[in-house]
Amino acid sequence: MTKLGRELASKGINIISLSVGEPDFNTPDHVKNAAKQALDENYTRYSPVPGYPDLRQAIVNKLKTENNLDYDISQIVVSTGAKQSLSNVILTLIDPEDEVIIPTPYWVSYSEMVTLAEGKSVFIDTDIESDFKITPAQLEAAITPKSKLFMFSSPCNPTGSVYSKEELAALVAVFEKHPNIYILSDEIYEHINFVDKHESIAQFNSIKDRVIIVNGFSKAFAMTGWRLGYIAANKEIAAANDKLQGQTTSGTCSIAQRAGIVAYEQGLASVLEMKEAFLRRRELVYNLLNEIPGVKTNLPDGAFYFFPEISSFFGKKDADGNVIKDSSDLALYLLNVGHVATVGGDSFGNNNYIRLSYAASDESLVEALRRIKEALGKLA
Ligand code: PLP
Repeated sequence: MTKLGRELASKGINIISLSVGEPDFNTPDHVKNAAKQALDENYTRYSPVPGYPDLRQAIVNKLKTENNLDYDISQIVVSTGAKQSLSNVILTLIDPEDEVIIPTPYWVSYSEMVTLAEGKSVFIDTDIESDFKITPAQLEAAITPKSKLFMFSSPCNPTGSVYSKEELAALVAVFEKHPNIYILSDEIYEHINFVDKHESIAQFNSIKDRVIIVNGFSKAFAMTGWRLGYIAANKEIAAANDKLQGQTTSGTCSIAQRAGIVAYEQGLASVLEMKEAFLRRRELVYNLLNEIPGVKTNLPDGAFYFFPEISSFFGKKDADGNVIKDSSDLALYLLNVGHVATVGGDSFGNNNYIRLSYAASDESLVEALRRIKEALGKLA
């Protein structure tokens, strides 16, 4: 959708993009300055495959001070973004036919990565009524002797849902009964959380050794283009990720790593500023979505997405008589007629929804929601 939107925009059509998953802010100045300094200091050569030791130490310190989690640097592997970390973990852990349990909706790449590793994705469906969160009973029912990994994001892309400590504890009780299952916890939206402090499933000591935390700098520090992420895991998994990465990408960009150290060492002031803007926009979009007949939404607790239910429009026709059959049709219709780029929920494993990113200016959001309302009102 982003690509299609760009094509229309290149023809001079004013497209508002609510389809991309990145903060609309610039990387904070102190981080950019650290990169400039790294260049001047000639951090321009190959770096160690799992990352510079002082970056890994800064990550260890962050995990202790912000999350109260104990790791040492041999358990940290830095990569070219959370995406590579997810892929490294799946490629090292999953053998053909292994089952990976994934709650839907999920971030698009999860199931594709499992397919690349010749594993099998086993989906647990959720919906807006349950705030897109799974229950322990659903988890238990999805487990088979072939289950190798459970993977999820909290805060979640695409729903913004956040598991509370109690909800995580209830899932942990299930994992305690199944000691062969690893848990991949994607915490890339950790700092865009409007409920409370971030809760990591790695805080539960009974399963901590089986948890692989994936995190990074893209969302919290508006550093999507820098490509900097990491895992925190047991030493064996970390060593396997190091080994795989050593034969594929090697260590990530030296300059990005030096900047990452400063991002973590200089605290969260810039992150909090961004979060405040996201909070304001969340209210704005929530109110505007609620004014659109046929659209049902919840109030997401984190990230910067809404995932409203739009199935009431299926079966309706546009002005040319084309029938809206699914969420991709609706997203395409909104792009062509409303000139707003969104993403159909089918990309995330739940067809009855669309994803809207509110990482856009307040004015763009107001105009986008006006256009969406108008375009949907034309469907008959
Ligand atoms: N995990 C989730 C849930 C995401 O939404 C994204 C990016 O959109 C990533 C991982 C990848 O992050 P990175 O830019 O660090 O590779």
